[in-house]
Amino acid sequence: MLNRRTFLKTGAAMVPVSAAFGAIHPASAHAAELAAGAIVSGPSPKLIALPSRLAPVDPSSEPWQRRIRRVGQSNMTEHDPAVMNIEEWADFWHSAQADIVFISVTGILAFYPSKVKFHRHGKYLHGRDFFGECLAAAKKRGMRAVARMSPDLNWPDALAAHPEWAMRNRDGSVQHNTQDSRLFKTCMFSSYMDDYVPAIMREINSLYDVDCFYTNGWPPGGSLPDCHCAICSKLPPSGTPAYWRVFNDRVFELWRKYDAIAKEKSPDSFFFPNLGGNVRCGPNLQRLGSIAEWFQADNQGRNFASPSIWECSLQGRVCTAIMDGKFATNVTGAYSTGTVTWRNSSKSPDETRIWLSESLAGGTVPYLHFVGSEDGFCEDRRWQKIGSDYFRWTAKYDHHLAGRRTVANIGVVMGQSTQLLYPGPATARGRGYMSETTQGIYDALLRGRFFFDYVHEERLEPERLAKYRALILPNVAMLSDHQCQQIRDYARSGGSVMASFETSLYDENLQPRADFALGDLFGIRKAGDVVGTNGNAYYARIEHPNAASPSPVLEGFTNTNWLPGAQNRIPLNPVPNPVLTVVPGFVSYPPELAYPPISHTDEPAVVLRETGSSRLAYFPGDIERTYWLTGHGDLLQLLHNTIRWLTNDESIVHVDGPGFMEMLCWETAPGYAVHMLNYTNPDAQHGWLKSIDPVGAQAVTMKLPPNVRAKSVELLQAGQSIHFTQQEQLLRFTVPRVEAYEVAAITVT
Ligand SMILES: [Zn+2]
Repeated sequence: MLNRRTFLKTGAAMVPVSAAFGAIHPASAHAAELAAGAIVSGPSPKLIALPSRLAPVDPSSEPWQRRIRRVGQSNMTEHDPAVMNIEEWADFWHSAQADIVFISVTGILAFYPSKVKFHRHGKYLHGRDFFGECLAAAKKRGMRAVARMSPDLNWPDALAAHPEWAMRNRDGSVQHNTQDSRLFKTCMFSSYMDDYVPAIMREINSLYDVDCFYTNGWPPGGSLPDCHCAICSKLPPSGTPAYWRVFNDRVFELWRKYDAIAKEKSPDSFFFPNLGGNVRCGPNLQRLGSIAEWFQADNQGRNFASPSIWECSLQGRVCTAIMDGKFATNVTGAYSTGTVTWRNSSKSPDETRIWLSESLAGGTVPYLHFVGSEDGFCEDRRWQKIGSDYFRWTAKYDHHLAGRRTVANIGVVMGQSTQLLYPGPATARGRGYMSETTQGIYDALLRGRFFFDYVHEERLEPERLAKYRALILPNVAMLSDHQCQQIRDYARSGGSVMASFETSLYDENLQPRADFALGDLFGIRKAGDVVGTNGNAYYARIEHPNAASPSPVLEGFTNTNWLPGAQNRIPLNPVPNPVLTVVPGFVSYPPELAYPPISHTDEPAVVLRETGSSRLAYFPGDIERTYWLTGHGDLLQLLHNTIRWLTNDESIVHVDGPGFMEMLCWETAPGYAVHMLNYTNPDAQHGWLKSIDPVGAQAVTMKLPPNVRAKSVELLQAGQSIHFTQQEQLLRFTVPRVEAYEVAAITVT
């Protein structure tokens, strides 16, 4: 059996290299460098050349919001007008070099002497223009200001006058805020959103010069409303594809309306709402990308239900996929976000910092948030220095930290409609099903040090996919006929595709198909309904365990005739020369019966195909999710082997070194930035970071475009320049150590 290193050596000879993707095997350059005494280590990777650099852009020609690099928010409470020192608040954010601050207008409680009916004045306002004073203090220091509103809740007097504004339960009762039951939830389909919210916006326009408007609490970030008011009860049932279309139409109708009101004051102003939800965003991300000037990702920290350390960078990848270079932020809660919350107490410093670092690495602008100016400036002030030190560090390197486009050779189809609407297979229903799938493939891609982007299923145009050597569809169950055709066209043009489980078994309306819409592409036919697990999950039998040249996807599996399968699978018809076949599951208890009654079948456990430079892999099991549930290393290795085979073992950035890291590479105005987030930490999957475990040397290799020369490589966290070599197009350097985060900033000529 070949090991990884011998496979790499022989693989190049065995497999024709795709000229279309410009791969080279830089062994000769590597050897020359070794002879010259350069710093190199690890096996020679096959590298794809980076694309030609983008033409320079004059930043002053761009809309103002795209030049924002730091966002600050002290989320104002009703009590703040009584106690907050406005000068101290403004001085803090100014000293932290925040470009823009959020100031509360709200809609639940007015922070200015509003005359809009039902816009209740905070009880400590006493007629004072608190909002106006804060705005003046920010503007005096050169900071821009967002007028922050909350259209999601209101008080009993408004309900008594406008019972039609409330969200209702199925029995007709009013839906209230779960923590303060005096407040009712407003329905987004009601006139509250058409009349009350615009009235506040126009009042603000008449009194102040704000830079833009924002709504907190609407639309829902990662779910859909469930309202049974008179209007909503005439709509399709919540959670269905038909409801999602109506919901989206209403979201974007209101978005356009609010944006037009913002522009009544100034053509440079705009509206943006609270967003987030990662790949499970409420509003349609494709439509959102076409309208949003600012993607505000409200994804403030980890909790017990979403424990992964990479939630913030994952969100950044989602923003990148749909914003086409427009502005996006990710909110970092410097307070104690979590399953048990202390909204007015600082969280651990390393956790706050890694979230801010993930914002940068993921391509969003860091945004620091603490609740209550009184609490944040009097009771617990620890978050301030953590945030301002971090912000000031970023300000030294804005030119390197602002990414223009990602450097990646793999596209992962996010499947937003599947994430939001697909209930899971009949054998494992549950809202967490797709979340587990997402976490599994994400974890596997990070551990394999692959450089990947998210791709939205409604953005599969050939020009968008051209940069990717491979597309991955992790159980993207819902795909339209058109989307399936785009994937076929991509494969026909030479791209590789990997898919799993129920991918393409449903159309865009969640109607099940009799067979896979992508069955012709992968050469698969469905032979039955989903099979789950009762005791022992199924196994994948290695068909030729002693073959002289085993399939590359089986690299590293020795001394076993079978591998673990997955928890759930779609039975397939037999295929010629299967690599792995299904040994059906059987009981795990009692052990007397824990043996396979049928030990060999012709049902495929993976189907591999090769057509020209296109390589195709389909797993009938929910392999990514089962990897996430179990952490089984065989499933991880099978995924890694398959992805390497799909990409012809080519990298676009190769980083060799110890540790579990998330890495992203961006083309920047000065050159390139390789971001390294160190997740080698016992708290990477639970709780918060409490300390950092640094990792050692990381050897980076990249193939620059022709005629591009590296001038310097600077480590932005360590604050030092490092040695590099460039042989023709091949750039090499070694980052000696990574604490929590490092950015290798390459300046080119
Ligand atoms: Zn309603």
